Amino acid sequence: MTKWKWNFTRSVGMRAPLLICILVLTLLPLLVQARFMSGFFRKSRIEESMIEAQNKCLMLANRMRSSDYINGALSNTGNPSLDAELNVTADLFNGRIVVIDSSYRIIRDTFEVAKGRFCVVEEVLKALDGESGSRLNEEKDYFYLTLPIYGKADAPGAGGKKPEGDPVEGALLMTASTESVALLVENVNHRAGFFQLLLACLVAAADFFAVAQLLKPFKRLSQQLGLVAEGNLDQEIEVNDYLETRDISGSVRETIRRLKDVDQSRQEFVSNVSHELKTPITSIRVLADSLMAMEDAPVELYREFMVDISDEIDRENKIIDDLLTLVKMDKSSPDLNISSASVNALLEQILKRVRPIAKKRNIELIYESIREVTADVDEVKLSLALTNLVENAVKYNHEDGWVRVILDADHKFFYVKVIDNGVGIPEEFQSKVFERFYRVDKARSRETGGTGLGLSITKSIVMLHQGAIKLLSREGDGTTFTVRIPLNYIP
Ligand code: ADP
Repeated sequence: MTKWKWNFTRSVGMRAPLLICILVLTLLPLLVQARFMSGFFRKSRIEESMIEAQNKCLMLANRMRSSDYINGALSNTGNPSLDAELNVTADLFNGRIVVIDSSYRIIRDTFEVAKGRFCVVEEVLKALDGESGSRLNEEKDYFYLTLPIYGKADAPGAGGKKPEGDPVEGALLMTASTESVALLVENVNHRAGFFQLLLACLVAAADFFAVAQLLKPFKRLSQQLGLVAEGNLDQEIEVNDYLETRDISGSVRETIRRLKDVDQSRQEFVSNVSHELKTPITSIRVLADSLMAMEDAPVELYREFMVDISDEIDRENKIIDDLLTLVKMDKSSPDLNISSASVNALLEQILKRVRPIAKKRNIELIYESIREVTADVDEVKLSLALTNLVENAVKYNHEDGWVRVILDADHKFFYVKVIDNGVGIPEEFQSKVFERFYRVDKARSRETGGTGLGLSITKSIVMLHQGAIKLLSREGDGTTFTVRIPLNYIP
């Protein structure tokens, strides 16, 4: 069992199966045709010989009738010229001719061995009844013919048929070997075999050459792919000889392009992370250095600087936390804790948490629940995603502004809309805000403690729930984020 499996899973080169297929498809018809032609030639030669023998025998039977051969033989008068002709005809066909009278007695045998004996076989009986017959025995390589011999006064009809009421005086039986035909066919086959072998060799060589030519584009493609596999991502992949190689080249080029993009975005991410992590540390260093530089700094100043240092540490912590959240989300199989939860309760909790921050800037927080929604979600992650949206709506808002959170659902999805009348996002930045570390207004984001990771975390969480997130905004007018998530989680 294992052995079979091993055999099946082993890869073979394309050349061998292709060559075998082409060889079989070209040589097989050649062999079948040769075999068919040889059989056809043999059969037609035998049929020709039988027809010739039949005509000859018919002529002999007619001459026997006109020379009253049977009665002559019975009365011992004989007919030497006809006898000689019987011998010649028998020799011509490499056979034997026997003449039988109406009482089944053999009156003439070209082999001179059975004269006077009786011959009562079905074919002779039929011939004496006026019916001609013939049969070919292919296995033993011979055929025989039987013909009626009519009386002198009677005239046989066409094909040796007896006219109504005419007496049949005897029968002519001829047996002839077809071995010579078999020998001839064998001879022809032998000669043709040599040419067939030559032709087969030529066809095989042509097939071999054709397969090598046909596989060349694949070989080229494989060489190019080999260079890519060695790490040369700039290697050009372009083999357009066949549609298949063109498609493969296209797919590989696209894959390489994406790989390069991923590589580039990874590099950007790493440099962004380093930069973001360095910023609070640099601030801490500046604060600490300036404190140390002052000889008699008052305690109040120390306290003030320490508060700033603590804020920077908080910021550093937040960046690290957000980064860890993102990394967890980026895993190939992130841990999702799906359970049936009330989305209304979840939103109420979020709003309760954000309300004190909103209150500080006199921002009104309005919650509209159009219906009760229970859905299969990861409560903790979804809560984080929606909190980011609501917090952003407050953060990027004016004093005395408002934020509306609307929950609705249909039979398949639930929808959460977070609408604000804040600063809005200029159109040219709208496609970028979901990117990691992207901030429209860096200073404002920093002021509000933003890391630039909130929206990308939100988007990842929504995607994990097989949902979608849409942004609609106009600079100065406000922003609407719409999240759509299936009510039933589809793994
Ligand atoms: P941050 O931590 O800076 O808030 P986010 O990823 O949450 O990072 O948001 C990215 C950027 O998108 C923000 O810096 C801000 O410029 C913009 N943004 C997000 N939400 C809003 C909003 N409701 N109104 C205006 N701008 C927004």
